[in-house]
Amino acid sequence: MKVMKFGGTSVGTPQRMKEVCKLITSPTQPTFVVLSAMSGTTNALLEISDYLYKKNPEGANTIINQLEQKYMLHAQELYATSEYCELTQKFLREEFNYLRSFTKILFTSFEEKVIVAQGEIISTNMVTNYLKECGVKAVLLSALDFIRTDKNAEPDFNYIREHAQKQLHDNPDYQVYITQGFICRNAYSEIDNLLRGGSDYTACLIGAALQSEEIQIWTDIDGMHNNDPRVVEGTKPVPQLYFEEAAELAYFGAKILHPTCIQPAKFAGVPVRLLNTMDPTAPGTIINNEMQQGTLKAVAAKDDITCIQIQSSRMLLAHGFLRKVFEIFESYKTSIDMVCTSEVGVSLTIDNTSHLSDILSELKQYGTVQVEEDMVIICVVGDLSTDNVGFVTRACDALRDVPVRMISYGGSNHNISFLVRKADKKQTLQALSQSLFNA
Ligand code: ADP
Ligand code: ASP
Ligand code: MG
Repeated sequence: MKVMKFGGTSVGTPQRMKEVCKLITSPTQPTFVVLSAMSGTTNALLEISDYLYKKNPEGANTIINQLEQKYMLHAQELYATSEYCELTQKFLREEFNYLRSFTKILFTSFEEKVIVAQGEIISTNMVTNYLKECGVKAVLLSALDFIRTDKNAEPDFNYIREHAQKQLHDNPDYQVYITQGFICRNAYSEIDNLLRGGSDYTACLIGAALQSEEIQIWTDIDGMHNNDPRVVEGTKPVPQLYFEEAAELAYFGAKILHPTCIQPAKFAGVPVRLLNTMDPTAPGTIINNEMQQGTLKAVAAKDDITCIQIQSSRMLLAHGFLRKVFEIFESYKTSIDMVCTSEVGVSLTIDNTSHLSDILSELKQYGTVQVEEDMVIICVVGDLSTDNVGFVTRACDALRDVPVRMISYGGSNHNISFLVRKADKKQTLQALSQSLFNA
Protein backbone atom coordinates (compact mmCIF):
# COMPACT_ATOMS: atom_id res chain seq x y z
CA MET A 1 0.00 0.00 0.00
CA LYS A 2 1.13 3.52 -0.80
CA VAL A 3 0.72 6.43 1.63
CA MET A 4 0.10 9.83 0.01
CA LYS A 5 0.09 13.09 1.98
CA PHE A 6 -1.24 16.34 0.53
CA GLY A 7 -0.34 19.64 2.20
CA GLY A 8 -2.40 22.79 2.71
CA THR A 9 -1.83 24.34 -0.72
CA SER A 10 -2.49 21.01 -2.43
CA VAL A 11 -6.02 20.99 -0.96
CA GLY A 12 -6.23 24.81 -0.82
CA THR A 13 -9.21 25.30 -3.20
CA PRO A 14 -12.09 23.12 -4.45
CA GLN A 15 -10.29 22.88 -7.81
CA ARG A 16 -7.11 21.65 -6.11
CA MET A 17 -9.13 19.09 -4.13
CA LYS A 18 -10.45 17.73 -7.45
CA GLU A 19 -6.90 17.47 -8.80
CA VAL A 20 -5.81 15.61 -5.65
CA CYS A 21 -8.67 13.14 -6.09
CA LYS A 22 -7.45 12.40 -9.62
CA LEU A 23 -3.98 11.64 -8.24
CA ILE A 24 -5.16 9.28 -5.49
CA THR A 25 -7.56 7.06 -7.36
CA SER A 26 -4.95 4.58 -8.50
CA PRO A 27 -6.77 1.57 -9.98
CA THR A 28 -4.18 -1.04 -9.06
CA GLN A 29 -4.00 -0.96 -5.28
CA PRO A 30 -5.58 0.68 -2.24
CA THR A 31 -4.09 3.99 -1.12
CA PHE A 32 -3.82 5.59 2.33
CA VAL A 33 -4.28 9.36 2.07
CA VAL A 34 -3.29 11.91 4.71
CA LEU A 35 -4.61 15.46 4.31
CA SER A 36 -3.72 18.81 5.83
CA ALA A 37 -6.23 21.56 6.46
CA MET A 38 -6.91 23.90 3.51
CA SER A 39 -4.12 26.49 3.45
CA GLY A 40 -4.78 29.42 5.78
CA THR A 41 -7.27 27.50 7.92
CA THR A 42 -4.89 26.44 10.73
CA ASN A 43 -3.72 30.05 11.02
CA ALA A 44 -7.34 31.27 11.12
CA LEU A 45 -8.18 28.72 13.85
CA LEU A 46 -5.17 29.89 15.87
CA GLU A 47 -6.36 33.46 15.43
CA ILE A 48 -9.79 32.46 16.78
CA SER A 49 -8.07 30.83 19.77
CA ASP A 50 -6.02 33.95 20.33
CA TYR A 51 -9.17 36.08 20.51
CA LEU A 52 -10.69 33.62 22.96
CA TYR A 53 -7.57 33.67 25.17
CA LYS A 54 -7.89 37.45 25.20
CA LYS A 55 -11.56 37.15 26.16
CA ASN A 56 -12.72 38.76 22.92
CA PRO A 57 -15.62 36.58 21.67
CA GLU A 58 -16.69 39.20 19.07
CA GLY A 59 -13.26 39.02 17.41
CA ALA A 60 -13.45 35.22 17.39
CA ASN A 61 -16.99 35.24 15.97
CA THR A 62 -16.00 37.56 13.13
CA ILE A 63 -13.35 35.10 11.92
CA ILE A 64 -15.65 32.12 12.46
CA ASN A 65 -18.34 33.78 10.31
CA GLN A 66 -15.88 34.66 7.53
CA LEU A 67 -14.48 31.14 7.52
CA GLU A 68 -17.96 29.62 7.45
CA GLN A 69 -18.98 31.73 4.44
CA LYS A 70 -15.84 30.70 2.60
CA TYR A 71 -16.38 27.00 3.28
CA MET A 72 -20.06 27.15 2.26
CA LEU A 73 -18.95 28.55 -1.12
CA HIS A 74 -16.24 25.87 -1.39
CA ALA A 75 -18.91 23.20 -0.92
CA GLN A 76 -21.03 24.73 -3.70
CA GLU A 77 -18.07 24.70 -6.03
CA LEU A 78 -16.81 21.21 -5.16
CA TYR A 79 -19.89 19.04 -5.55
CA ALA A 80 -21.82 18.39 -8.72
CA THR A 81 -24.95 17.12 -6.97
CA SER A 82 -27.21 18.91 -4.48
CA GLU A 83 -27.22 15.72 -2.38
CA TYR A 84 -23.47 15.93 -1.60
CA CYS A 85 -23.46 19.72 -1.42
CA GLU A 86 -26.24 19.71 1.19
CA LEU A 87 -24.71 16.83 3.12
CA THR A 88 -21.41 18.68 3.38
CA GLN A 89 -22.99 22.05 4.14
CA LYS A 90 -24.94 20.46 6.98
CA PHE A 91 -21.67 19.06 8.34
CA LEU A 92 -20.00 22.47 7.96
CA ARG A 93 -22.82 24.28 9.78
CA GLU A 94 -22.43 21.85 12.70
CA GLU A 95 -18.66 22.40 12.69
CA PHE A 96 -18.94 26.19 12.78
CA ASN A 97 -21.64 26.09 15.48
CA TYR A 98 -19.27 23.89 17.46
CA LEU A 99 -16.55 26.53 17.06
CA ARG A 100 -19.01 29.21 18.23
CA SER A 101 -19.71 27.19 21.37
CA PHE A 102 -16.13 27.92 22.53
CA THR A 103 -16.92 31.63 22.78
CA LYS A 104 -19.14 30.87 25.77
CA ILE A 105 -16.79 28.78 27.92
CA LEU A 106 -13.56 29.26 29.84
CA PHE A 107 -10.73 28.99 27.33
CA THR A 108 -7.49 27.06 28.00
CA SER A 109 -4.74 25.42 25.92
CA PHE A 110 -6.84 22.24 25.90
CA GLU A 111 -9.63 24.05 23.99
CA GLU A 112 -7.06 25.53 21.60
CA LYS A 113 -5.95 22.04 20.57
CA VAL A 114 -9.57 21.06 19.91
CA ILE A 115 -10.20 24.19 17.82
CA VAL A 116 -7.03 23.83 15.75
CA ALA A 117 -7.90 20.17 15.02
CA GLN A 118 -11.05 21.19 13.11
CA GLY A 119 -9.11 22.28 9.99
CA GLU A 120 -8.04 18.74 9.14
CA ILE A 121 -11.39 17.32 10.27
CA ILE A 122 -13.15 19.59 7.76
CA SER A 123 -10.79 19.05 4.79
CA THR A 124 -10.86 15.24 5.10
CA ASN A 125 -14.64 15.25 5.33
CA MET A 126 -14.97 17.39 2.20
CA VAL A 127 -12.58 15.25 0.15
CA THR A 128 -14.12 11.95 1.30
CA ASN A 129 -17.58 13.21 0.31
CA TYR A 130 -16.22 14.30 -3.07
CA LEU A 131 -14.66 10.88 -3.71
CA LYS A 132 -17.92 9.18 -2.76
CA GLU A 133 -19.83 11.48 -5.10
CA CYS A 134 -17.41 10.41 -7.86
CA GLY A 135 -18.20 6.74 -7.10
CA VAL A 136 -14.86 5.93 -5.45
CA LYS A 137 -14.94 3.40 -2.62
CA ALA A 138 -13.44 5.71 0.03
CA VAL A 139 -13.60 5.64 3.82
CA LEU A 140 -12.67 8.33 6.34
CA LEU A 141 -10.69 7.03 9.33
CA SER A 142 -10.32 9.39 12.27
CA ALA A 143 -6.65 9.95 13.14
CA LEU A 144 -7.86 10.46 16.72
CA ASP A 145 -8.51 6.70 16.84
CA PHE A 146 -4.97 5.60 15.99
CA ILE A 147 -2.38 8.43 16.10
CA ARG A 148 -1.25 8.91 19.67
CA THR A 149 1.60 10.50 21.61
CA ASP A 150 3.15 9.24 24.84
CA LYS A 151 3.89 11.02 28.13
CA ASN A 152 6.93 12.71 26.55
CA ALA A 153 4.72 14.05 23.72
CA GLU A 154 6.53 11.75 21.28
CA PRO A 155 4.56 9.49 18.90
CA ASP A 156 3.69 6.19 20.59
CA PHE A 157 4.79 4.03 17.69
CA ASN A 158 3.66 0.66 19.03
CA TYR A 159 0.17 2.02 19.68
CA ILE A 160 0.05 3.61 16.22
CA ARG A 161 1.19 0.43 14.47
CA GLU A 162 -1.29 -1.78 16.29
CA HIS A 163 -4.23 0.58 15.84
CA ALA A 164 -3.47 1.59 12.23
CA GLN A 165 -3.35 -2.07 11.27
CA LYS A 166 -6.61 -2.68 13.15
CA GLN A 167 -8.28 0.14 11.22
CA LEU A 168 -7.39 -1.54 7.93
CA HIS A 169 -8.48 -4.92 9.23
CA ASP A 170 -11.86 -3.52 10.39
CA ASN A 171 -12.41 -1.67 7.10
CA PRO A 172 -11.46 -4.11 4.35
CA ASP A 173 -11.94 -3.66 0.61
CA TYR A 174 -11.75 0.10 0.29
CA GLN A 175 -9.94 1.74 -2.61
CA VAL A 176 -8.99 4.88 -0.66
CA TYR A 177 -8.47 5.32 3.10
CA ILE A 178 -8.46 8.96 4.16
CA THR A 179 -7.27 10.40 7.44
CA GLN A 180 -6.30 13.72 9.01
CA GLY A 181 -2.68 14.76 9.24
CA PHE A 182 -1.35 16.71 12.24
CA ILE A 183 -3.99 15.75 14.83
CA CYS A 184 -3.71 13.03 17.45
CA ARG A 185 -4.59 12.11 21.00
CA ASN A 186 -2.04 12.40 23.77
CA ALA A 187 -1.22 9.95 26.56
CA TYR A 188 -4.26 11.23 28.50
CA SER A 189 -6.57 10.70 25.49
CA GLU A 190 -6.99 14.44 24.97
CA ILE A 191 -7.02 15.93 21.48
CA ASP A 192 -3.52 17.15 20.65
CA ASN A 193 -1.30 17.62 17.60
CA LEU A 194 2.15 16.89 16.18
CA LEU A 195 3.07 20.61 15.95
CA ARG A 196 2.98 22.88 12.89
CA GLY A 197 3.64 21.06 9.65
CA GLY A 198 2.82 17.80 11.47
CA SER A 199 0.88 16.18 8.61
CA ASP A 200 4.20 15.03 7.14
CA TYR A 201 4.88 13.29 10.45
CA THR A 202 1.45 11.58 10.40
CA ALA A 203 2.13 10.27 6.87
CA CYS A 204 5.55 8.90 7.80
CA LEU A 205 4.22 7.29 10.99
CA ILE A 206 1.43 5.58 9.05
CA GLY A 207 3.79 4.54 6.24
CA ALA A 208 6.16 3.00 8.78
CA ALA A 209 3.32 1.38 10.78
CA LEU A 210 1.86 -0.27 7.67
CA GLN A 211 5.28 -1.06 6.15
CA SER A 212 4.00 0.68 3.03
CA GLU A 213 5.97 0.47 -0.20
CA GLU A 214 6.42 4.26 -0.37
CA ILE A 215 5.40 7.44 1.46
CA GLN A 216 4.63 10.28 -0.93
CA ILE A 217 4.64 13.87 0.36
CA TRP A 218 2.79 15.97 -2.23
CA THR A 219 3.34 19.70 -1.89
CA ASP A 220 3.62 22.91 -3.92
CA ILE A 221 7.23 22.51 -5.11
CA ASP A 222 9.03 19.86 -7.16
CA GLY A 223 11.00 18.22 -4.34
CA MET A 224 13.69 19.23 -1.85
CA HIS A 225 15.67 22.09 -3.40
CA ASN A 226 19.40 22.51 -2.89
CA ASN A 227 18.82 25.77 -0.97
CA ASP A 228 15.87 27.67 0.50
CA PRO A 229 13.83 28.86 -2.53
CA ARG A 230 12.22 31.57 -0.38
CA VAL A 231 15.60 33.23 0.12
CA VAL A 232 17.89 32.25 -2.77
CA GLU A 233 17.14 32.47 -6.50
CA GLY A 234 17.92 29.67 -8.93
CA THR A 235 17.62 26.74 -6.48
CA LYS A 236 17.17 23.29 -8.04
CA PRO A 237 15.46 20.09 -6.92
CA VAL A 238 17.74 17.39 -5.50
CA PRO A 239 16.90 14.05 -7.16
CA GLN A 240 17.95 11.78 -4.28
CA LEU A 241 18.71 12.08 -0.57
CA TYR A 242 19.95 9.56 1.98
CA PHE A 243 17.59 9.26 4.99
CA GLU A 244 20.11 10.95 7.30
CA GLU A 245 20.67 13.79 4.85
CA ALA A 246 16.93 14.47 4.59
CA ALA A 247 16.58 14.25 8.38
CA GLU A 248 19.36 16.85 8.85
CA LEU A 249 17.84 19.19 6.26
CA ALA A 250 14.35 18.91 7.78
CA TYR A 251 15.65 19.46 11.30
CA PHE A 252 17.82 22.37 10.23
CA GLY A 253 15.07 24.34 8.58
CA ALA A 254 14.05 22.99 5.14
CA LYS A 255 10.37 23.81 5.61
CA ILE A 256 9.23 21.31 2.99
CA LEU A 257 9.46 18.58 5.66
CA HIS A 258 8.41 18.53 9.34
CA PRO A 259 11.63 18.52 11.44
CA THR A 260 11.40 14.95 12.74
CA CYS A 261 9.17 13.20 10.18
CA ILE A 262 11.97 11.24 8.50
CA GLN A 263 12.85 9.17 11.61
CA PRO A 264 9.97 6.64 11.43
CA ALA A 265 10.44 6.14 7.67
CA LYS A 266 14.17 5.62 8.17
CA PHE A 267 13.68 3.06 10.96
CA ALA A 268 11.11 1.16 8.91
CA GLY A 269 13.21 1.47 5.73
CA VAL A 270 10.28 2.93 3.77
CA PRO A 271 11.34 5.37 1.01
CA VAL A 272 9.84 8.87 1.03
CA ARG A 273 9.15 10.68 -2.23
CA LEU A 274 8.56 14.44 -2.41
CA LEU A 275 6.28 15.42 -5.28
CA ASN A 276 4.57 18.49 -6.68
CA THR A 277 0.77 18.54 -7.01
CA MET A 278 1.05 21.50 -9.42
CA ASP A 279 3.39 19.46 -11.66
CA PRO A 280 2.66 15.77 -10.96
CA THR A 281 4.97 14.37 -13.61
CA ALA A 282 8.09 16.15 -12.27
CA PRO A 283 10.46 13.54 -10.76
CA GLY A 284 10.73 15.26 -7.34
CA THR A 285 13.06 13.88 -4.67
CA ILE A 286 13.41 10.29 -3.50
CA ILE A 287 14.67 9.78 0.06
CA ASN A 288 16.00 6.30 0.70
CA ASN A 289 18.82 4.24 2.18
CA GLU A 290 21.38 4.93 -0.55
CA MET A 291 24.29 7.16 0.34
CA GLN A 292 25.78 8.75 -2.77
CA GLN A 293 29.52 9.16 -2.31
CA GLY A 294 31.21 12.43 -3.10
CA THR A 295 28.20 14.74 -3.53
CA LEU A 296 27.01 17.74 -1.62
CA LYS A 297 23.24 17.84 -1.67
CA ALA A 298 21.76 20.97 -0.12
CA VAL A 299 21.91 23.87 2.31
CA ALA A 300 19.25 24.82 4.87
CA ALA A 301 18.83 27.46 7.55
CA LYS A 302 17.27 27.27 10.99
CA ASP A 303 16.12 30.64 12.34
CA ASP A 304 15.57 32.02 15.85
CA ILE A 305 18.62 30.46 17.43
CA THR A 306 20.10 31.68 20.70
CA CYS A 307 23.78 31.18 21.41
CA ILE A 308 25.04 30.81 24.99
CA GLN A 309 28.73 31.01 25.87
CA ILE A 310 30.03 29.91 29.27
CA GLN A 311 33.61 30.88 30.10
CA SER A 312 35.48 29.53 33.08
CA SER A 313 39.21 29.42 33.51
CA ARG A 314 38.86 27.29 36.61
CA MET A 315 36.61 24.38 35.80
CA LEU A 316 36.39 23.99 32.10
CA LEU A 317 37.31 20.61 30.72
CA ALA A 318 37.68 19.35 34.26
CA HIS A 319 35.88 16.05 34.15
CA GLY A 320 32.19 16.32 34.84
CA PHE A 321 31.96 20.00 33.84
CA LEU A 322 30.14 19.46 30.54
CA ARG A 323 27.79 16.97 32.20
CA LYS A 324 26.80 19.59 34.78
CA VAL A 325 26.17 22.16 32.04
CA PHE A 326 24.09 19.73 29.96
CA GLU A 327 22.10 18.64 33.00
CA ILE A 328 20.88 22.19 33.46
CA PHE A 329 19.46 22.19 29.93
CA GLU A 330 18.01 18.72 30.42
CA SER A 331 16.24 19.74 33.62
CA TYR A 332 14.43 22.46 31.64
CA LYS A 333 13.64 20.08 28.73
CA THR A 334 15.64 22.35 26.41
CA SER A 335 17.54 20.63 23.64
CA ILE A 336 20.91 21.80 22.41
CA ASP A 337 21.67 21.94 18.68
CA MET A 338 25.32 22.95 18.29
CA VAL A 339 28.21 22.66 20.76
CA CYS A 340 31.79 23.95 20.52
CA THR A 341 34.36 23.67 23.28
CA SER A 342 37.79 25.17 23.97
CA GLU A 343 40.15 25.17 26.92
CA VAL A 344 38.45 28.20 28.45
CA GLY A 345 34.88 28.10 27.27
CA VAL A 346 31.95 26.25 25.78
CA SER A 347 29.39 27.72 23.34
CA LEU A 348 26.11 26.07 22.55
CA THR A 349 22.86 26.90 20.81
CA ILE A 350 19.20 26.40 21.63
CA ASP A 351 15.98 27.22 19.79
CA ASN A 352 13.56 27.01 22.69
CA THR A 353 14.05 29.99 24.97
CA SER A 354 11.03 29.50 27.21
CA HIS A 355 13.27 28.70 30.23
CA LEU A 356 16.22 30.87 29.21
CA SER A 357 16.37 33.07 32.32
CA ASP A 358 16.28 30.05 34.70
CA ILE A 359 18.94 28.28 32.64
CA LEU A 360 21.17 31.35 32.65
CA SER A 361 20.95 31.88 36.39
CA GLU A 362 21.95 28.24 37.00
CA LEU A 363 24.79 28.42 34.48
CA LYS A 364 26.25 31.48 36.18
CA GLN A 365 27.53 29.35 39.06
CA TYR A 366 30.03 27.82 36.58
CA GLY A 367 31.48 30.96 35.02
CA THR A 368 30.75 34.06 32.98
CA VAL A 369 27.75 33.63 30.71
CA GLN A 370 27.05 35.57 27.51
CA VAL A 371 23.96 35.34 25.33
CA GLU A 372 23.48 36.26 21.66
CA GLU A 373 19.99 36.18 20.18
CA ASP A 374 18.76 36.34 16.58
CA MET A 375 21.27 33.84 15.26
CA VAL A 376 20.79 31.34 12.42
CA ILE A 377 22.25 27.86 11.93
CA ILE A 378 23.26 27.28 8.34
CA CYS A 379 23.65 23.62 7.59
CA VAL A 380 25.41 22.09 4.57
CA VAL A 381 24.39 18.49 3.90
CA GLY A 382 25.94 15.76 1.78
CA ASP A 383 28.89 13.40 1.80
CA LEU A 384 31.12 15.19 4.31
CA SER A 385 33.05 12.10 5.37
CA THR A 386 36.73 12.67 6.09
CA ASP A 387 37.69 10.74 2.92
CA ASN A 388 35.94 13.36 0.89
CA VAL A 389 38.49 16.16 1.00
CA GLY A 390 37.71 19.57 -0.43
CA PHE A 391 34.05 20.21 0.39
CA VAL A 392 34.70 21.57 3.87
CA THR A 393 37.31 23.96 2.47
CA ARG A 394 34.90 25.08 -0.26
CA ALA A 395 32.10 25.70 2.25
CA CYS A 396 34.42 27.63 4.60
CA ASP A 397 35.96 29.54 1.71
CA ALA A 398 32.50 30.63 0.51
CA LEU A 399 32.01 32.31 3.89
CA ARG A 400 35.21 34.35 3.80
CA ASP A 401 33.22 37.62 4.06
CA VAL A 402 30.72 36.44 6.68
CA PRO A 403 31.38 36.73 10.41
CA VAL A 404 30.90 33.10 11.48
CA ARG A 405 30.22 32.66 15.22
CA MET A 406 30.48 28.84 15.51
CA ILE A 407 31.32 25.89 13.26
CA SER A 408 30.28 22.29 13.92
CA TYR A 409 31.78 19.48 11.87
CA GLY A 410 32.28 15.79 12.56
CA GLY A 411 29.08 15.10 14.50
CA SER A 412 27.97 13.03 11.53
CA ASN A 413 29.36 12.35 8.07
CA HIS A 414 26.55 14.34 6.50
CA ASN A 415 26.57 17.79 8.00
CA ILE A 416 28.67 20.87 8.60
CA SER A 417 26.90 23.70 10.42
CA PHE A 418 27.76 27.38 10.73
CA LEU A 419 26.24 29.81 13.20
CA VAL A 420 25.81 33.30 11.77
CA ARG A 421 23.82 36.40 12.65
CA LYS A 422 20.30 36.70 11.24
CA ALA A 423 21.40 39.81 9.32
CA ASP A 424 23.98 37.68 7.43
CA LYS A 425 21.65 34.77 6.59
CA LYS A 426 20.80 35.72 3.01
CA GLN A 427 24.39 36.51 2.06
CA THR A 428 25.56 33.22 3.62
CA LEU A 429 22.97 31.11 1.78
CA GLN A 430 23.71 32.85 -1.53
CA ALA A 431 27.47 32.47 -1.13
CA LEU A 432 27.12 28.75 -0.38
CA SER A 433 24.85 28.21 -3.39
CA GLN A 434 27.35 29.92 -5.66
CA SER A 435 30.32 28.07 -4.31
CA LEU A 436 28.81 24.60 -3.89
CA PHE A 437 26.22 24.41 -6.66
CA ASN A 438 27.51 27.07 -9.09
CA ALA A 439 24.14 28.82 -8.86
P1 ADP B 1 2.73 21.88 2.63
O1 ADP B 1 1.65 22.85 2.97
O2 ADP B 1 2.47 21.10 1.38
O3 ADP B 1 3.12 21.01 3.80
P2 ADP B 1 4.99 23.60 3.14
O4 ADP B 1 4.67 25.05 2.93
O5 ADP B 1 5.03 23.09 4.52
O6 ADP B 1 3.98 22.77 2.23
O7 ADP B 1 6.39 23.23 2.43
C1 ADP B 1 6.63 23.58 1.09
C2 ADP B 1 7.40 24.89 1.04
O8 ADP B 1 8.67 24.69 1.66
C3 ADP B 1 7.76 25.33 -0.35
O9 ADP B 1 6.72 26.08 -0.94
C4 ADP B 1 9.03 26.15 -0.15
O10 ADP B 1 8.78 27.52 -0.12
C5 ADP B 1 9.50 25.77 1.27
N1 ADP B 1 10.90 25.33 1.31
C6 ADP B 1 11.83 25.76 2.20
N2 ADP B 1 13.02 25.18 1.99
C7 ADP B 1 12.84 24.33 0.94
C8 ADP B 1 13.71 23.46 0.23
N3 ADP B 1 15.00 23.31 0.57
N4 ADP B 1 13.20 22.77 -0.82
C9 ADP B 1 11.90 22.91 -1.17
N5 ADP B 1 11.03 23.71 -0.52
C10 ADP B 1 11.50 24.43 0.51
N1 ASP C 1 -2.40 22.21 9.21
C1 ASP C 1 -1.22 22.08 10.02
C2 ASP C 1 -0.34 23.32 9.85
O1 ASP C 1 -0.72 24.24 9.13
C3 ASP C 1 -0.44 20.82 9.73
C4 ASP C 1 0.12 20.70 8.33
O2 ASP C 1 -0.33 21.36 7.40
O3 ASP C 1 1.02 19.89 8.16
O4 ASP C 1 0.69 23.40 10.46
MG1 MG D 1 4.30 21.40 5.51
